[in-house]
Amino acid sequence: MAAETVPGQALKTDLFIGGEFVPAVSGKRFATTNPATGETLGEVAEAGREDLDRAVAAARATLESGPWASMKPRERGRILIRAAEMLLSRAEELGRVETLDNGKPIFESAKIDMPAAADALSYFGESADKLYGDTFPGRPDAMLLTLREPVGVVGAITPWNFPLLQAMWKIAPALALGNTVVLKPASLTPLTALLFADLLREAGLPAGAFNVVTGPGSTVGQAMAEHPGIDKVSFTGETGTGKKILRAAAATMKRVSMELGGKSPNVVFADADLEAAAKGAINAIFYGKGELCSAGSRLLVEESVHDALLERVVDRAKKMVPADPLHPKTRLGALVSEKQRETVEAYVTSGKSEGAKVVAGGNRASVDGKGAFFEATVFDGVRPDMKIAREEIFGPVLATLTFADEAEAVAVGNSTIYGLAAAVWTRDVKKALRTAKALKAGTVWVNAYNLYDPGLPFGGYKESGFGRERGRYALEEYTQVKSVWVDLS
Ligand code: NDP
Repeated sequence: MAAETVPGQALKTDLFIGGEFVPAVSGKRFATTNPATGETLGEVAEAGREDLDRAVAAARATLESGPWASMKPRERGRILIRAAEMLLSRAEELGRVETLDNGKPIFESAKIDMPAAADALSYFGESADKLYGDTFPGRPDAMLLTLREPVGVVGAITPWNFPLLQAMWKIAPALALGNTVVLKPASLTPLTALLFADLLREAGLPAGAFNVVTGPGSTVGQAMAEHPGIDKVSFTGETGTGKKILRAAAATMKRVSMELGGKSPNVVFADADLEAAAKGAINAIFYGKGELCSAGSRLLVEESVHDALLERVVDRAKKMVPADPLHPKTRLGALVSEKQRETVEAYVTSGKSEGAKVVAGGNRASVDGKGAFFEATVFDGVRPDMKIAREEIFGPVLATLTFADEAEAVAVGNSTIYGLAAAVWTRDVKKALRTAKALKAGTVWVNAYNLYDPGLPFGGYKESGFGRERGRYALEEYTQVKSVWVDLS
């Protein structure tokens, strides 16, 4: 079945350990399906503890001896840059697999996610020899200096919403700096990670530097967090899962970085360009079907322009019709799974029962009678204490709230446990900067939303996590500092 649904693209469905595709020792497999049709795409190997042990051993051996351990940083960088070029030339092919596995529009996966993943690879490939240590003029009788060394074996645990791209923000800096990696992709979307492993091998990455173990988070993910052979866990996913991983990692005092959930406020002041703000609000919540950690899921609008803005937002939301994710014009695909659709629907029911009003969408949808689709949904009349204003829905559901002045905008903006992203729309530069400073979020956009650059760090305040991906901050996350004292007396 797999071959027909992915023409021209043979799927990889075994674990990738020590440079080879191998089945799980137990022989177990699990199905991954296309949420737009319900069809099974492939049966993927289900790793157990013994497979993880093999992957960690391969990563450890490669870290400590052989070509990877002795390679010049610039050569490591060249491999990543070569892989970036290959990924870019296969963007359509890999994008198609991502779309089939995740349900996102092919426009997003092939034209945005894959090129962005290639950008991450080339950015970090170019950075491989550009992280310097320091020297300190502290003493006349000694030379004091620091070295930046790899952390070691990195365990990367990633979610299903941007399957290859999220993984790349970890794999690229980790490999650029000489670490080795064991990746556990989300069980709902394991396919592109395995294809990428094959691509890295073809680009010349030595065996064991990158390994993929597919399998349930509750077993193989948990075992990674506990594993004494893993030096660092880099996690992206739900805040609740992050807390479990933190507890498990404590036993071996692993380094951890956490990219977690969000409930980001998108603040529109009365003096904003309302047309641009409405367009931005739509992109903020419906890009990626709203299954986006940084989704602008709370639209905070100044009372005096509430009607004018909402009319524009609703108009645009009604045009976001769920459609076949493989069609190049589709902008709203299928949710990742039937279970995710149930979660989203339960939030819509809760919003209604707490007194908020649905002004667009609100219902399940299907394409050709199939698929986990959901309409682009907009709530009005939301209060900060409602569940739909506090909790991450992770679906195409926008909560609209109003505020009277700047102070209230900031107070409501900061009123959740999260602090991942935020945006502010205004023509007043001082107001924009005051609000950007006052919002407790790792990223704040001004008159924009959902824009990213490989050099600009991304990460959370509060329960959205800690650690930063991208830019030089990411390089620091994947190195540790050694101080060297050289006696000159
Ligand atoms: P989950 O936390 O459910 O899963 C993320 C990964 O963790 C998956 O690979 C999962 O495996 C694994 N996992 C699950 N349980 C454990 C465990 N006990 N120990 C170790 N690993 C485990 O998140 P989702 O996949 O549902 O992704 C959505 C979440 O990710 C949202 O909250 C979203 O905000 C967040 N996110 C954050 C981003 C950021 O940069 N801050 C970016 C993107 C998403 P399995 O798939 O087998 O369950």
